[in-house]
Amino acid sequence: MAERVLVVGGGGREHALAWKLAQSPQVQQVLVAPGNAGTASCGKISNSEVSVSNHSILAQFCKDHHVGLVVVGPEVPLAAGIVDDLTAAGVPCFGPSAKAAQLEASKSFSKAFMDRHGIPTARYASFTDPEQACNYIRTADFPALVVKASGLAAGKGVIVARDQDEACRAVMDIMKDRAFGSAGEEVVVEELLEGEEVSCLCFSDGHSVAPMPPAQDHKRLQDGDQGPNTGGMGAYCPTPQVPDQELLQQIRESVLQKTVDGMREEGTPYVGVLYAGLMLTNQGPKVLEFNCRFGDPECQVLLPLLQSDLYEAILNTMSGKLASSAPVWHQDSSAVTVVMASAGYPGSYQKGVQITGLTQLQDLGLQVFHAGTALKEGTVVSSGGRVLTVTAVRSSLETALQAANRGVAAIGFPGAVYRRDIGHRATAHLNQHRCV
Ligand code: AMP
Repeated sequence: MAERVLVVGGGGREHALAWKLAQSPQVQQVLVAPGNAGTASCGKISNSEVSVSNHSILAQFCKDHHVGLVVVGPEVPLAAGIVDDLTAAGVPCFGPSAKAAQLEASKSFSKAFMDRHGIPTARYASFTDPEQACNYIRTADFPALVVKASGLAAGKGVIVARDQDEACRAVMDIMKDRAFGSAGEEVVVEELLEGEEVSCLCFSDGHSVAPMPPAQDHKRLQDGDQGPNTGGMGAYCPTPQVPDQELLQQIRESVLQKTVDGMREEGTPYVGVLYAGLMLTNQGPKVLEFNCRFGDPECQVLLPLLQSDLYEAILNTMSGKLASSAPVWHQDSSAVTVVMASAGYPGSYQKGVQITGLTQLQDLGLQVFHAGTALKEGTVVSSGGRVLTVTAVRSSLETALQAANRGVAAIGFPGAVYRRDIGHRATAHLNQHRCV
């Protein structure tokens, strides 16, 4: 019997999850809670107002409405134990347990875990006392210039400092002024790493990993990687900077598989999507961070490249069958997504701006994933910082980039903020390695 699936979240990532799940012949309906204008009513997809923070209400709703699977988009409900609570109530829920989600929810946990298991990462120390943290910054025999709030800070709790004074100021901002709230009760001070950044995600069933193609996102607001950090302004996949199978195999073995083995050995098996943010240094790939779910906007380039049925891939992951049935990815295709954000983002921003031109994008062979959008008297208006992403899948990265940029230009969204150089590192890399 075809299933009803509920997706938790309301961003571009969750629209992409719902879009891909709806393509499965085994899925009859996809509910998104709370969702956005893009998921309000589109084929099999619709929104639900059920509370996702009260797990017992959510479990009862799932039973009453015959929801056979819950898929969780964001990290906060995972860290709050949504998978543990729904599973205990008899509702199948995809994602890691609260204990396994600590890999993302506590940087201090994940750094100590990597040390215990010999997973390559930057040298570091954790502190609950700001003076000790500053002392370490001033005396470490390597550039200890990266200061991170240990807890969840919506991807914004990391400061890459120019010098020791700036690093110490960051410690004070995080620990004394609580710039990121309780996430800053503990800080991690870390060695500055140099190299190319890449996001390597995999499905993990607790034993085996099934890697996804490598992706790269763009955290800074402005072109040329300038301006403040954001939740992410665009992404592309695959990354030509990880050209050879040898490097991918190394990442698979020395990072992804080692992490999943270590979590299992410690009694907290990791089942779900594991995301390793990596720096490709001269000494090999090193982990910058783990996330316990799909990235946003990486999800909007990964899922369009997934050839397999996502619903089946999730069921195989949850039932420990990845070794025999790893998901298959489209080869010889590239995906690019460009985020359009509200004027003022990532600071305070305007809401309620009307957005037009969305329906034209289908004719251009493009996919829009909504994020901060709402319906007002039948029209789509902005309601959040990151408003939507435009995704293009083409046979090459260059053509995908051009198509995504054409899509952005076709959307009427006064004051929209977006980058015009998504994929610039890949383009530079390709140009450098092009034969004459
Ligand atoms: P994170 O949330 O830990 O991935 O950090 C956010 C961003 O800060 C990363 O995407 C990197 O650009 C940068 N970053 C984090 N850790 C380091 C590090 N040890 N060295 C250099 N840059 C870093």
